[in-house]
Amino acid sequence: MSSEIQALQARWEAFHAKLKERVRAILEEAEPGCLAVFEQGGFDPFTLSNVLPALKRRLFDLVETAENTWTTQMDPALGRAAAGPEVVDREYDKLQALRAWTEAELEAFEVRLHATASRILWARLGPTVPTRLNCTQCGSPMELPVAFVVVSVHCPSCTSVNTFNPGPAALLDSYAIRHLAHEEVWEIRTGAEPMPKPQRLRETSTYQAEVEAWERRYGMRDYPIRAPY
Ligand SMILES: [Zn+2]
Repeated sequence: MSSEIQALQARWEAFHAKLKERVRAILEEAEPGCLAVFEQGGFDPFTLSNVLPALKRRLFDLVETAENTWTTQMDPALGRAAAGPEVVDREYDKLQALRAWTEAELEAFEVRLHATASRILWARLGPTVPTRLNCTQCGSPMELPVAFVVVSVHCPSCTSVNTFNPGPAALLDSYAIRHLAHEEVWEIRTGAEPMPKPQRLRETSTYQAEVEAWERRYGMRDYPIRAPY
């Protein structure tokens, strides 16, 4: 291989290494910023959905820069250096690898960010959720199921039906449980360090269903064959 091609490859690789460094720096900076927005927005997870698209745009602008550099500089330069098609293919594949790597970094960032927000929500809302309730008819104590949704509970003493409403803690079911289950499956899939997950959230049926759903999405589990009704 000519030294001209080798020099082009070295420059191309150095360029990719720089872009990756930039991606890492953007994500590292973004985490405290996103969590500050979450806190300022009254710990509303919706605030995170508002800031994430702009972050994603910044990262994929960098990938597009690499793609443009390929089209306008690297590909023509390889042509001038009379590089063979296998050399051109191998260098072009690095572009695909950069895109895949950026997608994986962004996924890791999003999974961790939502899981961190979920742990913050649990710390704030968890203590507000009772584990038992007194019957509104006879005052007998009733155990509540481990769930953060509206549930009907039958009083064991007088059999009357009581409704338990978790109020703002319903966010634990609609948001926190789902993102912590995602994080757990993602950690297993990628070998990432396991972060703590509140046991009371893990014990819910929502959590177990979400774990199974993520295992299916990641292709870690076959779709169950549903029996005909
Ligand atoms: Zn009762």
